[in-house]
Amino acid sequence: MKIIIIGGGIGGLTTALRFHQAGFEVKVFESVKEVKPLGVGINTLPHSVRVLTNLGLQGILAKNAIETTDLVYFNKFGQQFWTEPRGRFAGYKWPQFSIHRGTLQMILWEEAKRVLGEERLIANHHLARFEQDETGVTAYFTNRETGENSRVETGELLIGADGINSVVRQQLYPNEGPPVYSENVLYRGTTRMKPFLNGSSMAMIGSMQQKMVVYPIDPTPDADGNYLINWVGNLKEGKSRLTARDWNREADKARLVDIYKEWTFDWLDVPAMINGAKAVYEFPMSDRDPLDRWTFGRVTLLGDAAHPMYPIGSNGASQAILDADYLAECLLTSENVVDALEAYDKERVPAAAKVVLQNRAKGPDQIMDMMEERFPQGFTPDEIPHEELANVMDHYKKIAGFDVQTLNQKK
Ligand SMILES: Cc1cc2nc3c(=O)[nH]c(=O)nc-3n(C[C@H](O)[C@H](O)[C@H](O)COP(=O)(O)OP(=O)(O)OC[C@H]3O[C@@H](n4cnc5c(N)ncnc54)[C@H](O)[C@@H]3O)c2cc1C
Repeated sequence: MKIIIIGGGIGGLTTALRFHQAGFEVKVFESVKEVKPLGVGINTLPHSVRVLTNLGLQGILAKNAIETTDLVYFNKFGQQFWTEPRGRFAGYKWPQFSIHRGTLQMILWEEAKRVLGEERLIANHHLARFEQDETGVTAYFTNRETGENSRVETGELLIGADGINSVVRQQLYPNEGPPVYSENVLYRGTTRMKPFLNGSSMAMIGSMQQKMVVYPIDPTPDADGNYLINWVGNLKEGKSRLTARDWNREADKARLVDIYKEWTFDWLDVPAMINGAKAVYEFPMSDRDPLDRWTFGRVTLLGDAAHPMYPIGSNGASQAILDADYLAECLLTSENVVDALEAYDKERVPAAAKVVLQNRAKGPDQIMDMMEERFPQGFTPDEIPHEELANVMDHYKKIAGFDVQTLNQKK
């Protein structure tokens, strides 16, 4: 079976590797001329690391990522109110990795090149549109720089893994319009600095009004013993000037340092961390309403094209990887492509929709607002509602498909 994958991001590349492993013939078409390591930090949770492990990638990931040991929550005064072990430290069979998005994409790209062959990864080909009938799909590509038609490709199945501004989704849902803006702006950067907490922790500070997420993403220190630390500030800015999602738009660093100037704790100096970044990128936090179906005939959606979500709970990349794995299983176990896509939709459409909606309802970070609302001036240790916080955290893990008992039963 000839399969056309649109998009060489985390979702498209994992799909290519997983399909190749399952014995299918795939080609990946990517818009950009040259795939470069763009973005900042990203997390892969144990349920998706299971898939990457089965593709033989755990070793290379471990060399290039931080194995996250714990997730720790603090209020805006730097007081800790929640900590939990993560990945193998929480009893999962698979680790949680914090990694630079670009590093993860390049690992997948190089592996796909190695196992599929370079000729099956086709950069500089932007999908313009597709047509389909009962027997197959035809994809029409352009060169984005010149605008010229560059290629026509036919196959039996087309997968739109082309991100939040998916052309495939737009053709399937022509009236949908742009992503839905959350009125929050994300400020993302990386800084070389000394490790904080135990050196492999992920820290969440503040509330949804003003938040900072901080974690290391590279296990190799520089000559001065500094590590690459990823951070994301979240500011509720209401109707913002930012609407278009551009991952690479630079922000005003001095303004951000000023907003966070009080956040100097004995375990982390937030303004110094922001100041130490080479560049700060701003990005409107947005998603799309969940769809009832991703599949139409021989065409389906995957990853951000299917279910873009707020980056809360570290699930964006992981859910794309889960899609890839499940779709391969469906193709292996169904009689034909159409049945396989139906089975894929039946399982993954509602599963991903739940995560999108949970993230809109602040996902695990609800506990930050619970603490801020109850204790705006800080708390004493005996005031922490441990059980209530635990319920929120456990609920999210079940919704997002990574509660430890269920996951550990898988191979
Ligand atoms: C440049 C960039 C930087 C990012 N940085 C971060 C980050 O720092 N932190 C974070 O949490 N998430 C980041 N993300 C999003 C994150 O990668 C996704 O949320 C998640 O990994 C799901 O991946 P995906 O493959 O579905 O989508 P994406 O990673 O968005 O990949 C989609 C791919 O499809 C390609 N594409 C788009 N349209 C077409 C077309 N018509 N024809 C062919 N190819 C097409 C794109 O160039 C891209 O490579 C970034 C995405 C991009 C594209």
